[in-house]
Amino acid sequence: MTKLDGRVALVTGAARGIGAEIARTYARAGAKVGVLDLEEALTKDTVSAINDAGGQALGLGADVSDAGQVRGAVERLVQEFGGLDIAVNNAGVTRDNLLFKMTQDDWDTVMNVHLRGMFLVTAEAQRHMVQQRYGRVINISSTSALGNRGQANYSAAKAGVQGFTRTTAIELGPFGVTVNSIGPGFVDTEMTRATAERVGVPADQRLSEVAAGLPVRRVGQPADIANAALFLAAEESGFVTGQVLYVDGGRSVR
Ligand code: NAP
Repeated sequence: MTKLDGRVALVTGAARGIGAEIARTYARAGAKVGVLDLEEALTKDTVSAINDAGGQALGLGADVSDAGQVRGAVERLVQEFGGLDIAVNNAGVTRDNLLFKMTQDDWDTVMNVHLRGMFLVTAEAQRHMVQQRYGRVINISSTSALGNRGQANYSAAKAGVQGFTRTTAIELGPFGVTVNSIGPGFVDTEMTRATAERVGVPADQRLSEVAAGLPVRRVGQPADIANAALFLAAEESGFVTGQVLYVDGGRSVR
């Protein structure tokens, strides 16, 4: 028996990057997985990879900051797969700028996707989890919550993720639902590569520079985050709640 046999998971922002890897890892561990991204068509690669490997995945199109779309997606998942046990709030965007150049739109977009999105998805998910007296919520924060130049909006949002995690852990714990957060450091995905290119540094050069400054001398891969997300999704992690697990190659202790 694998760790997540019989469980149903929802992973947001799972078309690519860290979310796609978490979805594939959960499916390998036996879960049926709702693969959610902005458009259902974007989830095709992740869904096919899971189904072709013998797992079960359902593509869901929804903007996590839209209450009606989130409700519709969760309802569809519950109807198709018969429940919801694990929710991973992973969908994310960056709109980096130094504060004096940051627009209101940069601020609002980042807050809406990370904070409003996490609130809406968790609020829908907990209705099912509380009723069945079991659930696992995993919120993707970031080492940027500790402060990162050019990311006042993203840093504030990712620190907010941690406050939301602690508070909902207190509220949902009595119902068998744990809530934890993962704080990835620098992970090699389209998000980080696009950021490097935007500031005029070739992505591979940026990755080497970051790796050189980390205790483990390498940047993260999506699988590093997915493995932590697997631990927090398992029944065996039931005494761990309200925590932030930094998965960052040692950046936060440097
Ligand atoms: P990514 O490759 O950009 O993937 C993010 C996914 O989220 C994309 O598929 C994106 O869709 C989707 N998304 C964006 N807005 C959405 C919305 N409103 N509703 C539904 N889906 C939405 O990013 P990643 O690097 O894998 O990051 C995943 C998570 O880890 C994010 O929360 C990020 O902040 C966090 N994180 C990443 C790193 C890192 O180094 N990569 C470090 C710390 C934390 P579109 O492509 O269509 O926009």
